[in-house]
Amino acid sequence: MSRLVLVVNAGSSSLKYDLIDVDAAESRASGLVERIGEPTSRAKHSVDGTDHRTEGRCADHGAAFELLLAAFREHGPDLGGLELAAVGHRVVHGGAQFSAPTRIDDEVEATIERLIPLAPLHNPANLEGIRVARAHFPDVPQVAVFDTAFHQTLPPHAYTYAVSRAWRDEHRVRRYGFHGTSHAYVSRRAAELLGLPVEAANVIVLHLGNGASATAVAGGRSVDTSMGLSPLEGLVMGTRPGDLDPSLPAHLARAGVSLEEYDRALNKESGLKGLTGSNDFRELEDRVAAGDADARLAFDVVAHRLRKYIGAYAAVLGRVDAVAFTAGVGEHSPMLRAAALDGLGDLLGIEVDAAANDAATSGEHRISTASSRVAVLVLPTQEELEIAREAAGVATGA
Ligand code: AMP
Repeated sequence: MSRLVLVVNAGSSSLKYDLIDVDAAESRASGLVERIGEPTSRAKHSVDGTDHRTEGRCADHGAAFELLLAAFREHGPDLGGLELAAVGHRVVHGGAQFSAPTRIDDEVEATIERLIPLAPLHNPANLEGIRVARAHFPDVPQVAVFDTAFHQTLPPHAYTYAVSRAWRDEHRVRRYGFHGTSHAYVSRRAAELLGLPVEAANVIVLHLGNGASATAVAGGRSVDTSMGLSPLEGLVMGTRPGDLDPSLPAHLARAGVSLEEYDRALNKESGLKGLTGSNDFRELEDRVAAGDADARLAFDVVAHRLRKYIGAYAAVLGRVDAVAFTAGVGEHSPMLRAAALDGLGDLLGIEVDAAANDAATSGEHRISTASSRVAVLVLPTQEELEIAREAAGVATGA
């Protein structure tokens, strides 16, 4: 019998879900509830190619979960009549405690709660999802799959910030890294496509979505990654700035900017949004094509930062077998891929085939030339499937 896993991704005002048949590697139904806690919440349940939409009020994640169950009852498949192998929860921050997917019990739940200071925007919502799912499915194994876990292999010289021992010890200040599920899946898939054992493949993975991060993967292990203590560091993102001068908070505080304003601006109003007013990369490309100067500068800032990380990670790895692009922008923007890799043939052995790059806008593609020393790949990420696989593995020991 094939194993079914309900993947739950609870955000601060949303609940996304996906019922995955792990053995067939496909989704049976998926959906999301948005605007939880607002006067009107919206829900969408997709099954057999049809979207079923509803509106109503969902006061909290508990009410959103009731809506999810009702959608499965009404539009199928009825969860009551199915045997779930596990519920897999995406949890953003696992700190230094979790280096692998973990079956959730009261102690694990309490540990995730103790990690809230490290992820104040994410872990509380993830915990809500865990609590309501445990209450509704007390007999189904619940598994936490952490965004940070894949990066627990970072060596100390890559995860240590050069700050005082007190900050490092008392405040757990270090690089953790995020998007681990995606980096793990894409680096493994890249090795598979190159016909290399995972242990032998060195891959630079570029996860470029609304959030964006780069990871250097050596033999299946993350050895450096661009996000840090929080998902703010590194590449330029939709609404987050990536790397900044650490003196910025003090500089702005002296000018009267409050901590709350600073936090909100860096999470929600920076990056592409700060540079152009919009965090939509498609819109950015259209504006660049129309000759908009702000959009051109923003694009160049994004591409330049990306190029810097590719060069840095090539140096970290010493030898690169593949550069792999994934997520919304990585999978769909030939323009950014071309700009980030242009002219790196002599230095890094990366040669992009312009026609193959332009043609690669969905699905898996190799976009490097036949003579390129490094393979350049475009690989759709499969975070839900990966979470389902990990959860099923923990629950069934397979
Ligand atoms: P994600 O967070 O992976 O869903 O990615 C979201 C980002 O991908 C947004 O900035 C979108 O504008 C961008 N994106 C999605 N489709 C395209 C496309 N066809 N061309 C360029 N950017 C896209």
